[in-house]
Amino acid sequence: MDTVKYLLPEERIPRSWYNIQADLKTPLAPVLNPGTGQPIGPDDLAPLFAMELIKQEVSQEREIEIPEPVRDVYRQWRPSPLFRARRLEKALDTPARIYYKYEGVSPAGSHKPNTAVAQAFYNKEQGIKKIATETGAGQWGSALAMASCIFGIELKVFMVRVSFNQKPYRRGLMETFGATVLPSPSDQTNAGRAILAANPNSSGSLGIAISEAVEVAAQSDDTKYALGSVLNHVLLHQTVIGLEAIEQFEMADDYPDVLVGCTGGGSNFAGFVFPFIGAKLRGGRAVDVIAVEPSACPSLTKGKFAYDFGDTAHTTPLMKMHTLGSTFMPPGFHAGGLRYHGMAPLVSHLAQENEFTTVSYDQMRTFAAGVQFAQAEGIVPAPEANHAVAAAIDEALKCKESGESKAIAFNLCGHGHFDMQAYLDYHAGKLEAYEYPAEEIAMALSGLPSVG
Ligand SMILES: *Cc1c(COP(=O)(O)O)cnc(C)c1O
Repeated sequence: MDTVKYLLPEERIPRSWYNIQADLKTPLAPVLNPGTGQPIGPDDLAPLFAMELIKQEVSQEREIEIPEPVRDVYRQWRPSPLFRARRLEKALDTPARIYYKYEGVSPAGSHKPNTAVAQAFYNKEQGIKKIATETGAGQWGSALAMASCIFGIELKVFMVRVSFNQKPYRRGLMETFGATVLPSPSDQTNAGRAILAANPNSSGSLGIAISEAVEVAAQSDDTKYALGSVLNHVLLHQTVIGLEAIEQFEMADDYPDVLVGCTGGGSNFAGFVFPFIGAKLRGGRAVDVIAVEPSACPSLTKGKFAYDFGDTAHTTPLMKMHTLGSTFMPPGFHAGGLRYHGMAPLVSHLAQENEFTTVSYDQMRTFAAGVQFAQAEGIVPAPEANHAVAAAIDEALKCKESGESKAIAFNLCGHGHFDMQAYLDYHAGKLEAYEYPAEEIAMALSGLPSVG
């Protein structure tokens, strides 16, 4: 048999999410109020998030039960398949065993619905009628639009203007689910108007879109905010990926030696690797973990581990994380989901503790890897996922040189069906291998808040 699929029965969808905070060697740095420099409490976050999500944000419980209505929705596409990529192994002529967990089987085409469904559910439970959010390339917006539609919540999405113009089909998907989509910066918020006054042609950024959505939620009693990555509760919801993978490796009678995931805000990477890292922290088997980031937005390898804002207008609390500075505008490479200045505090914390290593790749390399993968396995990866594909291929090629037969597993966090313009540009030789923008980053980092 060529490509082999390991699929758990439906009733084996995890009953709990895994909270790595229970197993950390040292506690996470507290989130701070930028005005006072003091740790914030649940009440400070209550205007923005449903209370159950705030509790999960700070919970030290190892297992947090997945509500049955959330599992019900998960059942539509979970458990997601774990594939053994035999045709790719053959194409690479490697003794390595290559596996990938495929999250593109969700209705929105990525891992994002794993948390979108949970967030919509907890907001609905609390009687919330409206949610405001941001989206970059549109993956998060479409996942939350689907989940909000299922639970009967109104959704307003601030979509980074350059994507709003370049990705009409993602917008079409969100509007099909009944969401309202606005290009950001917009004239509907103080944050948006301030940016437009300074630069009427601003193409927007995730940091700006977050400021707009947070402002809308903070100013109305019936509206909450939702974030698709970075926060502890988001990473928690994504752990269904790794929990399933652990069981699927049992079915395959194997265990990974190397785990690979791409990192934008850190959620698909964390969801895939945290259950394995947790097993190791509790005395289980060791595994080498690799995070892959774009060389044009390298928060883990070139950022500072420092307190910073999550958005451009400085409306969020301060989180200790790897950051390129909240005003950093990454170059316009095609993996929109990886164009964020910060990194999840939990992922940053584990990087500091050397629980994983990070590599960075430019988009010429990642698209070459994505095309090679598609030709072998028949699935076109999202441009973000191509980063993980590239590193997994390089690990497999190292095995070819050394003759080692390692098991390499990566998270194929989404398909690229809405990203075909990027592939067209790649085939036409129009993509640029953006350099690491050292000067821009130095400038953005010089503006870090002086706390902590
Ligand atoms: C949003 C997104 C990412 C980046 O976000 P993470 O939180 O780092 O996972 C990566 N891949 C895909 C397909 C996405 O939609």
